[in-house]
Amino acid sequence: MTIATPRPQLLANLIEGLAQGSIRVIDLTTPLTPETPALRLPAPLSNVIDLSLEEVAAYDPRGPMWAHNNIHVGEHFGTHVDAPIHWISGREGRDISELPPEKLVGPAVVIDASAEAAANPDFLLEVRHIKEWEAQYGKLPKGAWLLYRTGWDAFGDDEALFLNADETGPHTPGVSAECARWLAEETDISGFGVETVGIDAGAGFGLVPPFPMHHYLLGNDKYGVTSLKNLHQLPATGAFIVVTPLPIVGGTASPARVLAFVEEPPA
Ligand code: MN
Repeated sequence: MTIATPRPQLLANLIEGLAQGSIRVIDLTTPLTPETPALRLPAPLSNVIDLSLEEVAAYDPRGPMWAHNNIHVGEHFGTHVDAPIHWISGREGRDISELPPEKLVGPAVVIDASAEAAANPDFLLEVRHIKEWEAQYGKLPKGAWLLYRTGWDAFGDDEALFLNADETGPHTPGVSAECARWLAEETDISGFGVETVGIDAGAGFGLVPPFPMHHYLLGNDKYGVTSLKNLHQLPATGAFIVVTPLPIVGGTASPARVLAFVEEPPA
């Protein structure tokens, strides 16, 4: 007796598209260096550490045929994924090791507010902006990662520009409290991605509730990813995303590599 083996045609198409170059892989990740811009909370609040590499061996008597390092880094550094337990509203929720794998892949859609953010660094995305996007591109897909393009990745090599802080605090674009609540409670997205240092506006402390994206998104078992690059290379709809935080048991976040698959239009 034989059992017919189903042919994995969908994956075969993907593999063929990658081989032919009709599907491209775009890296959305900020490289990790000691100079990668990071959140700077004011005293008396505590900050996680920046990245440093500690050399353990380098083809020398400590390891004659190999090199290896210890990595020292905070959970929330560079391109990283926030888990529900990062925020007090999600404290009974999942840690970073518990995010379901099927929610870490899915459709990626891009909303572009780079013009608005260039004109006003405190720009806040509102529900009406997403409704306008939906009128053009259709409803936010189930399981999507909504990626918020603001042009902020252009400042990724300069922490002062990236954080854009003055005596009143940081000024970087974000999401209004009502839009944060709506995204978390009334859409089927899996996650939300930004080019800035965090998923909330720089001035998010002054919103009600403070840091509303953290409050609502993480409190509703949805996830955030920060410091993305290259969103300008993605179409508004049709890309596929892979978000890969390390499964740190008990972790509130993890640096992650984030990749997008984009299909080139037929020539
Ligand atoms: Mn974080």
